[in-house]
Amino acid sequence: MKKLVVMGGGIGGVASAYELKQAVGSDHEIILVSDNPWFEFTPSNPWVAVNWRKPDAIRVDLDEAMSRRGIRFIHDPVVRVRPADDQLDLSSGTVLDYDMLVIATGPRLAFDEIEGLGPEGFTSSVCKTDHAAATAQVVEKLCEAPGPVVIGAAQGASCYGPAYEYAFILETELRRRKVRDRVPMTFVTPEPYIGHFGLDGVGDTKGLMESELRERHIKWLTNHRIDRVESGVMHVTGVKPDGSDAESSTLEFAHSMILPAFTGIDAVMGIDGLSNPRGFIPVDEFQRNPTYANVYAVGVCVAIPPVGKTPLPVGVPKTGFMIESMVTAAVGNIALALAGEEPRHRATWNALCLADFGDRGVAFLAVPQIPPRNTNWSSSGKWVHLAKVAIEKYYLHKVRKGTTEPFYEKFGMKLMGAGKLRGQA
Ligand SMILES: Cc1cc2nc3c(=O)[nH]c(=O)nc-3n(C[C@H](O)[C@H](O)[C@H](O)COP(=O)(O)OP(=O)(O)OC[C@H]3O[C@@H](n4cnc5c(N)ncnc54)[C@H](O)[C@@H]3O)c2cc1C
Repeated sequence: MKKLVVMGGGIGGVASAYELKQAVGSDHEIILVSDNPWFEFTPSNPWVAVNWRKPDAIRVDLDEAMSRRGIRFIHDPVVRVRPADDQLDLSSGTVLDYDMLVIATGPRLAFDEIEGLGPEGFTSSVCKTDHAAATAQVVEKLCEAPGPVVIGAAQGASCYGPAYEYAFILETELRRRKVRDRVPMTFVTPEPYIGHFGLDGVGDTKGLMESELRERHIKWLTNHRIDRVESGVMHVTGVKPDGSDAESSTLEFAHSMILPAFTGIDAVMGIDGLSNPRGFIPVDEFQRNPTYANVYAVGVCVAIPPVGKTPLPVGVPKTGFMIESMVTAAVGNIALALAGEEPRHRATWNALCLADFGDRGVAFLAVPQIPPRNTNWSSSGKWVHLAKVAIEKYYLHKVRKGTTEPFYEKFGMKLMGAGKLRGQA
């Protein structure tokens, strides 16, 4: 019996544990280790930030969910991966051996790369559910004492959809609270154009997102770097197409939410062959680390190069559809390796994204994620908001019950089947 350890209890890690259990769990031990006792449905964090959800509504107790499926759960942060010894050092001092490892630890949030950025500085966050809950309190204060709002992403970020989502959701909430007229809003981003998303756009996301921002009177600054943040003031610099500095300016705010750049977690940082200089895990076409063949990686922690050159660094997002396909490929190849066979499963790396605006939204499907593409589709409407609510319900059910169906793929296929992609797919 081999020991198969999954690190990280998020979208990638939980799916890996369940799929491993189903594929090889009768002959091998499956262990999930996480620094968080809960699975948190990260895509719902922007709703927590405006009090449309309570944190408990989007959390699942991992101990309960895993024990129901016969998976051992360890709630103990990994402080160091030692791939040469096939061991993990846990924060309690325990040393956990593994035969095969799946790394699914998502990002470290690099707020520290910009002075004053993040919840320990002067801007809010929706990256973690706790951050979003703290943001909800700031939003309450904003409604009591309205003032300017600055929302966006930092240079080097690889996640843009939630910044747009939060801007639109907050705008909807402020209108409902009848204070929107006293809240000037600005969207600041390193993207070379609105709707780039780190994907060089998908379909007409540039036109769709610009139009939404215009309709809601949200000003925007693209190609902008955040230099530093002080209490109530953000210092930014626009850059020219060649990357040189253009004009610097300041943005005053009563509330600001900025998505930071990501790195890999400290436990893998600086391990030759396992991680790159930013701490992301390089993988081959089979989700395997090229140096340590018994180590696989899925999700945000995987190293993916940017789609092209931009004046400021703009990273590629890793979304649910893509993560799900990475998991299925990794688990399939682990099953083959255990049977002494060569790997043959490859992730599809497509992107399906639904950006909710609170009352309507924008959806896009990129197949494959990196252009040029076979499917390059985007659309908008009230149906996107309704679909996002349905996805949350369905996904939390999936995690509670331990089902392994490829959720995003099924949903994407349904969209195509519904004719929404006719002529595009
Ligand atoms: C606010 C937000 C909204 C998003 N919305 C969408 C969306 O609508 N649709 C979409 O497709 N994608 C969305 N994404 C992108 C992506 O799907 C999510 O980021 C997703 O949660 C990534 O899954 P993951 O498993 O790679 O990482 P995570 O979900 O971040 O999971 C990582 C796990 O590892 C654990 N961990 C971290 N460090 C350690 C350690 N040292 N030891 C043990 N465990 C550790 C963490 O606690 C966590 O449980 C969104 C991202 C964000 C930030």
